[in-house]
Amino acid sequence: MDCIFCKIANGEIPSKKVYEDEHTLAFYDLDPQAPVHVLVIPKEHMQSIEDEKSEGAAKHLFHAVRMVAKELELADGFRCVINTGRDGGQTVGHLHIHVLGKRSLKWPPG
Ligand code: 5GP
Ligand code: ZN
Repeated sequence: MDCIFCKIANGEIPSKKVYEDEHTLAFYDLDPQAPVHVLVIPKEHMQSIEDEKSEGAAKHLFHAVRMVAKELELADGFRCVINTGRDGGQTVGHLHIHVLGKRSLKWPPG
């Protein structure tokens, strides 16, 4: 399958890793929107949160987010974003959680 994040997960495309385990990988976003901008992905391909498989992946993804927050010392807080589908602004069709931190983030988002 021609999926950028599958290629990052299997090492075909290099990435700057922050955390990795059997189920998940966390790496820095190429185009950071905050001083810390990390993407957490399941290693198994799934399109989005609309894929039923995402329910099983959620536990592992949340664990990875916690590990990233610990590793990058995000004790003052951070934001997780899961863009989904066209209206959600999803540009890569492999489920990912954006973890944004180290600046004060506005609400509501754009
Ligand atoms: P989306 O818009 O789908 O929610 O987020 C996709 C994210 O993936 C974007 O923030 C974009 O900067 C990032 N991205 C796209 N291609 C690559 C890549 O090859 N490497 C890394 N590290 N990030 C990427
Ligand atoms: Zn994929």
